[in-house]
Amino acid sequence: MSTIDSVLQENRLFPPSEDFRIKANVSGMEGYNALCEKANNDYEGFWAELARDLVTWKKPFNKVLDETNAPFFKWFEDGELNISYNCLDRHLDARGDKTAIIFEADDGSSKHITYRQLHAQVCQFANALKAQGVKKGDRVVIYMPHSIEAVVAMQSCARIGAIHSVVFGGFSAGALRDRIQDAAATLVITANEGVRGGKPVPLKAVVDEALGLEGSESIKNVIVYRRADHDNVAFKAGRDLWWHELTQSQPAQCEPEWMNAEDPLFILYTSGSTGKPKGIQHTTGGYLLGALVTMKWVFDYREGDVYWCTADVGWITGHSYVCYGPLAIGATQVVFEGVPTYPDAGRFWSMIAKHKVTTFYTAPTAIRSLIKLGADLPKQHDLSSLRILGTVGEPINPEAWIWYYEVVGGSRCPIVDTWWQTETGANMIAPLPGAVATKPGSCTLPLPGIMADIVDEAGAPVDPGKGGALVIKRPWPSMVRTIWNDAERFKKTYFPEEFNGKLYLAGDSAHFDENGYIWIMGRIDDVLNVSGHRLGTMEIESALVANPLVAEAAVVGKPHEIKGEAVVAFVVLKQARPEGEEARRIAKELREWVAHEIGKIAQPDEIRFGDNLPKTRSGKIMRRLLRVIAKGEEITQDVSTLENPAILDQLRHSAL
Ligand code: ATP
Ligand code: MG
Repeated sequence: MSTIDSVLQENRLFPPSEDFRIKANVSGMEGYNALCEKANNDYEGFWAELARDLVTWKKPFNKVLDETNAPFFKWFEDGELNISYNCLDRHLDARGDKTAIIFEADDGSSKHITYRQLHAQVCQFANALKAQGVKKGDRVVIYMPHSIEAVVAMQSCARIGAIHSVVFGGFSAGALRDRIQDAAATLVITANEGVRGGKPVPLKAVVDEALGLEGSESIKNVIVYRRADHDNVAFKAGRDLWWHELTQSQPAQCEPEWMNAEDPLFILYTSGSTGKPKGIQHTTGGYLLGALVTMKWVFDYREGDVYWCTADVGWITGHSYVCYGPLAIGATQVVFEGVPTYPDAGRFWSMIAKHKVTTFYTAPTAIRSLIKLGADLPKQHDLSSLRILGTVGEPINPEAWIWYYEVVGGSRCPIVDTWWQTETGANMIAPLPGAVATKPGSCTLPLPGIMADIVDEAGAPVDPGKGGALVIKRPWPSMVRTIWNDAERFKKTYFPEEFNGKLYLAGDSAHFDENGYIWIMGRIDDVLNVSGHRLGTMEIESALVANPLVAEAAVVGKPHEIKGEAVVAFVVLKQARPEGEEARRIAKELREWVAHEIGKIAQPDEIRFGDNLPKTRSGKIMRRLLRVIAKGEEITQDVSTLENPAILDQLRHSAL
């Protein structure tokens, strides 16, 4: 059976400090192993105990896991709860006056809001939704700036049992219409205008445009939050309503709708890195458990932490680690409206110092761009409050990891490299920071209770050092329940026939190293086949990024008569994009570098330079588009989630 060859060697190991280990929620490998053993011995009992401990139930569950209609699994199905109750009401006695959210606006002003205030706002807005006729099971599209109000909108939907579908505020009218149409939503919640990096974002205008397109007729009302201080937007009488007018006379109490654990909580579309986005549907009970248990284990949450996840609420990371996880566990968290490069590339670091952030969670793409824009900038700020750093979204190249560890974390903070997906709902593979020693570039070990494995095309486990498909062998509580409107696609994509419908196929390639650590090698779709060797993209890219000249790299395959496929690398340098003779000289140098670092087999045949790479709006490299460019073909694929279309033109003409 064919496996994937691994060529990258990375042996640096960073165990937690003694002090960190002793204080951690899961302490040492003994602690980690004990939890794993419990999960192995009694899988359902393990999850049931956690669900009873961490979640507040209105009606306790008796059934744990129902597999009769696999792969449509059910968890805690006879239990009742409300997630907004778990995030707000249950904290009011002990933490009512604690800061729930520190909001920092684009312009640098900030404000604190307590759990009691947030609860009141959510109740008022939930009452306003009810007054508009929104009820349990209705779909509500949220197209908001990253803000307290976005969280209020999501929590309010959850409180009354409406299913939210958050659409990132940077998406176009067409993408917004597609999501409205797919969910047959009845209401849109938006803002008159957002502001990012000092520039206005015309949210309401985009909503108006989307509602003028065919397919969005299901929308009855638009609620507009007045973020920018003007009424300077078109208002359609009878349809459009101001947030502040709807809420002002609403009571600050709202009895939550008691939901069945399996009632849908939200729909969220995937990033679209590998194809047309999928409407991932999550449910209430299992999802909440996933968010809570990972806050406790992976982010080692303790009272007094200031937690900051930089992801927008438009992504799954902003759902689980902004809207739900931190509030459910009672944390104080930072919500930042702006962008990391405004007013300068030190924004993240100055905010960590200003708000005394202890736990900072961001994406490799942000880290790589901040290295490029100012590798020394963190040193100008007091980052001593930090105790944990996290990454998510893509594999982090070891050199970027080391910079993050040393320059941002002062060689003191464990890095939790968290592998997970929109579909998984919560972190799945990640080091527990007080237990598992980290290795730059590896997401390390599965969380206790997550039965991850790596298999070849026949579904058989692969040997260490050999790459294969990453799979999860048992259903887990926070998993996707179906693709909205497309149960067939759900089955085919995640529980394919080739594995007898028994394994959850993540779509990523990975390998175990000799210590049992997991290394994500890239997307299965992106695996290259060079002279009979199957290569993942991550290792070649990481070798390139390890060169001092290189900021970012993406590799793809291109048909080659003799080798089958040739490696083509798209490279962004830390310096300006080179041209002509200089470009050819650096390309030659980089080809030799890769041959030397990981071997001739992985050496790019072709290197092309760009100012940037095509990325999804969540910051992930879209290699499928680069593959088309490398072949010199026209792009006919779904590009609705592409952030920077202009880059395609530049790269098309970048052959040396
Ligand atoms: P689509 O499914 O539409 O192609 P997507 O997979 O990019 O889009 P997401 O659910 O946002 O949508 O991303 C999940 C993917 O991100 C994972 O499958 C994996 O490829 C990548 N990923 C996330 N975290 C990590 C990580 N820590 N290390 C490596 N890869 C990661
Ligand atoms: Mg995916």
